[in-house]
Amino acid sequence: MTCPRIEVDLGKIRENCTTVVRRLKARGLSVTGVTKAVCGHPAVAQAMLDGGVAGLAESRISNVRRLRRAGHRGPITMIRTPMQSQANQVVQHCEASYNTEIVVIEALATAACAKGKVHGILLMVEMGDQREGILPENLGAIARHVMETPGVVLKGIGANFACLSGRAPNAAQMAALSVLANETEGLCGAVLQTVSGGNSANLPWAFGDHAIGRINDLRLGEAILLGVDPVSGDPLDGMHQDAFTLVAEVIEIATIPALSQIGLVDPALAKLRLFSNTPDRVRAIVAIGHQDTDISGLSARGGHSPLGATSDHLVIGTEPSTLSVGDEVRFQMTYSALVRAMAAPDVALRQVHELPSDCAQQSSTRAEHLALV
Ligand SMILES: *Cc1c(COP(=O)(O)O)cnc(C)c1O
Repeated sequence: MTCPRIEVDLGKIRENCTTVVRRLKARGLSVTGVTKAVCGHPAVAQAMLDGGVAGLAESRISNVRRLRRAGHRGPITMIRTPMQSQANQVVQHCEASYNTEIVVIEALATAACAKGKVHGILLMVEMGDQREGILPENLGAIARHVMETPGVVLKGIGANFACLSGRAPNAAQMAALSVLANETEGLCGAVLQTVSGGNSANLPWAFGDHAIGRINDLRLGEAILLGVDPVSGDPLDGMHQDAFTLVAEVIEIATIPALSQIGLVDPALAKLRLFSNTPDRVRAIVAIGHQDTDISGLSARGGHSPLGATSDHLVIGTEPSTLSVGDEVRFQMTYSALVRAMAAPDVALRQVHELPSDCAQQSSTRAEHLALV
């Protein structure tokens, strides 16, 4: 079978969605499924929709186009502030986008008017992550500007946490976002349809017993795909952590005297103390490397330990007689390993159905509506 490849169990993704959608619905929150980590893969997007997400969100127009080519007609929101140079395409393929720059909003408005469309604008507010966002004190003026601009309509506001800072939002920050929603409405007379609280890092807050306030949506990728909390890396209750597996093939086996003598151990891995000094272990070379994934985000199933890697080779330590040339080694991936493997041209994708329930079947039948590209 083609190697390297990602095996994806769509039934598990669907179940992860069902679980998180049900738990958040009880708290008054809807879920927008974020497909950027899988490059807008249409079947994965469909599994999210089958699991009950309210809509899809993407960060790259190329991924949105892939979804549209596959026949997806539902709403797609652009979550990265659109490039000014892509305003036309964003208006063409997305119902709405998150924005932080007036010049870009104006470019979207011009493009929308030219097409006879109205494009939805959500304003992203900076609340501590120090990545994207309008400063809270400038939000009212920009919101009013959007209200006065033909071709665009103010749909909501949102914030993003933990992406750059690595810090999950606290209840006070979330309460402040609710206050901003009320103030913005007061200032410009609009009703904000969406107040989007953030990404997977918000789940501990959302599952807690804090007041939800005005927040009515979360944008979730990692939690749905990998079943983990991105800040702590801890598995989320009742979610599958193994919807994705990376499979690569062994191309060489050798017994080497002492691994500490290799001297080629990847510094990142060395820092993680992944290498072992046990003498006379067997070393296997697997045909995958930095060009294919984030090697430091792989953990091998079956007790093999990654020792070091180059662009095309991954050296793993293993016990004698456990692996032969031609064998496949299976790895669990972190988010960054998944993102890079999904985008790597030499990594294939194969759908598997471990879940015997009708959900795997249902999503594959439904996926037939979408041409897999
Ligand atoms: C990537 C991203 C998300 C989704 O993040 P996850 O951690 O995968 O849930 C949500 N919002 C924005 C703006 C993003 O860039």
